[in-house]
Amino acid sequence: MKIQNFINGKFENPVKDTWIDNYNPSNGEIYGKIPNSSVEDVKLAYQSAKTAFPGWSNSTLEERSRILIKISELLEANLQRFAEAESRDNGKPISLAKAVDIPRAASNFRFFGNAITQFASESHESVGHYAINYTLRQPIGVVGCISPWNLPLYLFTWKIAPAIAAGNCVIAKPSEITPMTAFLLGKICNEAGLPNGVLNIIHGLGTTTGNAIVEHPNIKAISFTGGTATGAHIAKVAAPMFKKLSLELGGKNPNIIFADCDYDDMLETTVRSSFANQGQICLCGSRIFVETSIYEKFKKDFVEKIKQLKVGHPSDPTTNIGALVSKPHLEKVKSYIDIAKDENGIVLCGGNQVTIKDYENGYYLEPTVIEVMNDECRVNQEEIFGPVVTLMPFETETHVLDMANKVKYGLSATLWTNDLKRTMRMSNQLHAGIIWVNTWMMRDLRTPFGGVKASGVGREGGFEALRFFTEPKNVCIKY
Ligand code: NAD
Repeated sequence: MKIQNFINGKFENPVKDTWIDNYNPSNGEIYGKIPNSSVEDVKLAYQSAKTAFPGWSNSTLEERSRILIKISELLEANLQRFAEAESRDNGKPISLAKAVDIPRAASNFRFFGNAITQFASESHESVGHYAINYTLRQPIGVVGCISPWNLPLYLFTWKIAPAIAAGNCVIAKPSEITPMTAFLLGKICNEAGLPNGVLNIIHGLGTTTGNAIVEHPNIKAISFTGGTATGAHIAKVAAPMFKKLSLELGGKNPNIIFADCDYDDMLETTVRSSFANQGQICLCGSRIFVETSIYEKFKKDFVEKIKQLKVGHPSDPTTNIGALVSKPHLEKVKSYIDIAKDENGIVLCGGNQVTIKDYENGYYLEPTVIEVMNDECRVNQEEIFGPVVTLMPFETETHVLDMANKVKYGLSATLWTNDLKRTMRMSNQLHAGIIWVNTWMMRDLRTPFGGVKASGVGREGGFEALRFFTEPKNVCIKY
């Protein structure tokens, strides 16, 4: 199947007629072609977005809200089709795509469809100077949204929805590894009545298509989610053009477990926070630190539970762990298991590639738990982004805080404890943009989302996203 670019409300082949293969991770087979769009395609998308901008930026908030909510409803009505497409493209269990990815993509449109009607700007009365200042929040113009493969439609829409709600026109690029649901979204936008050119979806490699978006001088803002190295490159290209940048990058998140936690709840959630989506969520707690007094018990119980997880074909409803997203990614994750062994890590369970009958060339890997005795080893410092977690005991709060913060990343952290004062002390001191206490991945879309250090710059979510996608302009009137 050939997918096409979505430009000015129409599906188009790439100008240079160059294509790349799309793989199905569950069987390792090529099942489609996607455009490898060039500068020429970006130019066409830009022209269409630029033409649509005056009309869209002057549309009423009610009109934008109505269209965004309609897109959300159409996604919900097409849940099964989208979930199947997401699962086939990415390798994730269809049950997960149905319960999380697609419903949350629909929520993104509904949330920002509502949020834009509540978004307000400020006014300041300069008392004694007989003047009033009011701040306009104007859309930026044409903006670029670039997203990764792990939660394809979910993260794609997390950017697009606030960008168009705020009155911008968008050129969006999904990951070339998982382009399918972004392709399907175009048709839904037309059905919902989104005017032509407000959203343009172009496909291709990061180094060709992605670069062309970032380098385009008139695309004024870039919202990017992906790897830290790519983020650094984008920042370098965009900075001399003074583009607005939001960078959501990698993570190596600590999951800190104190003996006073609600044990069963913690255990069940830790299974999820370690291996949901094959561990390919930037928020996964890939470094598990456990207080010494319950370390041995936790180790036994956790490993027992992980051994029960079923690695299987994504369309099998009993599958817990599907396929990894690509062969190069599978090889990268496997290489970290070898690195762990070289560093004297002990593989407590997993560690092997899995062959599934009839799908022998799929990219399956056992969920892997590695015990490490040193938090400075590579498997505890570098992002693996797969079904691999490390386990390590800690003695004191100071000890674990030091280890938790001693990585270059700072996206999220999870804390399991019932001690209120400790919760507050540690939440204050952890280097992360998001702290979960006695839960994981609970999302309220109004809250700021993003990381510190090498995990990124800026925040998404709620009014933070609407602020990013608007330019404040102050008007001062003397009377
Ligand atoms: P990636 O950086 O390789 O690619 C992300 C996107 O950027 C893709 O669409 C890709 O085509 C594009 N891209 C690549 N090179 C580019 C360039 N030079 N110019 C412009 N665009 C370019 O990341 P990935 O492998 O797709 O995703 C995995 C990474 O994403 C992990 O590091 C993960 O932690 C991170 N991630 C972060 C968050 C977050 O919210 N912080 C969420 C999900 C994933």
